[in-house]
Amino acid sequence: MNCWTRRQFGCLAGAACLTALAPRVAKAQAKSRVVVIGGGIGGATVAKYLAASAGTIEVMLVEPKPRYTTCFFSSLYLAGMRSFESLTHGYEALAQNYGIKVIHESAVAIDPAGKTVALKSGAKLPYDRLVLAPGIAFKFGAIEGYDEAATEIMPHAWNGGPQTELLRRQLDSMEDGGLFLIVAPPNPFRCPPGPYERASLVAYYFKQYKPKSKILILDAKDSFFEQDLFQDAWTRHYPGMIEWLPGQFTGGVKSVNVKDLSVKTQGETFKAAVVNFIPAQMAGELAQQAGLADQSGWCPIEPTSFESKLQPGIHIVGDAIQSGEMPKSAFLANSQAKICAFAIAAALTGSDRFAPHLFNTCFTFLAADDAVSDAIALAPNGNTIKISEILISEVGEDAELRRQVVQAANGWYTAFTHDVFG
Ligand SMILES: Cc1cc2nc3c(=O)[nH]c(=O)nc-3n(C[C@H](O)[C@H](O)[C@H](O)COP(=O)(O)OP(=O)(O)OC[C@H]3O[C@@H](n4cnc5c(N)ncnc54)[C@H](O)[C@@H]3O)c2cc1C
Repeated sequence: MNCWTRRQFGCLAGAACLTALAPRVAKAQAKSRVVVIGGGIGGATVAKYLAASAGTIEVMLVEPKPRYTTCFFSSLYLAGMRSFESLTHGYEALAQNYGIKVIHESAVAIDPAGKTVALKSGAKLPYDRLVLAPGIAFKFGAIEGYDEAATEIMPHAWNGGPQTELLRRQLDSMEDGGLFLIVAPPNPFRCPPGPYERASLVAYYFKQYKPKSKILILDAKDSFFEQDLFQDAWTRHYPGMIEWLPGQFTGGVKSVNVKDLSVKTQGETFKAAVVNFIPAQMAGELAQQAGLADQSGWCPIEPTSFESKLQPGIHIVGDAIQSGEMPKSAFLANSQAKICAFAIAAALTGSDRFAPHLFNTCFTFLAADDAVSDAIALAPNGNTIKISEILISEVGEDAELRRQVVQAANGWYTAFTHDVFG
């Protein structure tokens, strides 16, 4: 098995290293090393803020994909309102501007005692501190017939990338008058308004190109986030097009059949033209395998440093964690990542620690010129994290205000993705 020491990694980083090897190696050996697994929103932000704020820390970012596609705003792509390319971001700026060593591989195992991470190639990366930001995994097998192979027929499109493109192709080739069926997951799951925003934006697309089509949401839950805002918008923009059936009404989804695109609840079988099945979720696979998740399937963390409660020296950020009242959003993953980066820098270099404050703002599109937002502030409270303030759009707001929220949302996307990857 291959083992990368700090000296060897310096050589792998580029051909020009030969001439500058001696001074660079001497400097690198004096540095602490943080390895970050997962170059999504949480991981890329931790890497960037650690590298930018503490020049004495060497930062390595392990991520298999050469480019990251955001889930957020992916339903705008489904509705034809954004290009796929506009959702996709590279790692060049993180490497060039902040000196982060980006390794395009999967991490396959963690050895907390030896403080190393094993990569798929067999290489091992030693670390002083480890950050894990693997996002979510899906509970395949929880509903009969829905396994990993079924995602190629009934896409979840709950990770950005090929799944989103597949769903878009299915919507494009669907005939007018067909049924688009969304299976919405139980709590907790990534992006609480997400399934209902998706229904709104697909309805926006149908209204223009396939006006006889219908949308049915079979929900595992009996209510959902911002329900009044969504149901008001569905009545105003898409009368008669979207139907939502709560779990208590259907008895829940029991099985799916990918051969005839049908979904069976306790009492009925629904046949659809396109099925967007969003499964129940848990922390990403590596977190499960490394024993960082508890029986809930999510990772418990210490709320001021995001250090694992199960494994000291390993920090976890993003959707993989579950703490108090924190929803799973990109905005919060980024906010957590900054607190985590400062806590690690303080532990490794003795720099100042700040009182942690977390923020989340979510923009949700209901139509092309109608969007709402929610803003929450959160803070550690004892052993957990609680909401201290909350502000949500209201039913009946002025159309001009809603248009302004659309503009704010588009501006946020540009600024936010620059904060993470720029
Ligand atoms: C349809 C939809 C709409 C959304 N809209 C919004 C919104 O408007 N606003 C908002 O704030 N949030 C939104 N979200 C939520 C947001 O996308 C997630 O909360 C966010 O991406 C979580 O970040 P993360 O870093 O935890 O996970 P991800 O961004 O999923 O990143 C995880 C990364 O880890 C990598 N990885 C996994 N395992 C390994 C391994 N073993 N080795 C190396 N790398 C690994 C993956 O390749 C991936 O790149 C939306 C989500 C969806 C699905």
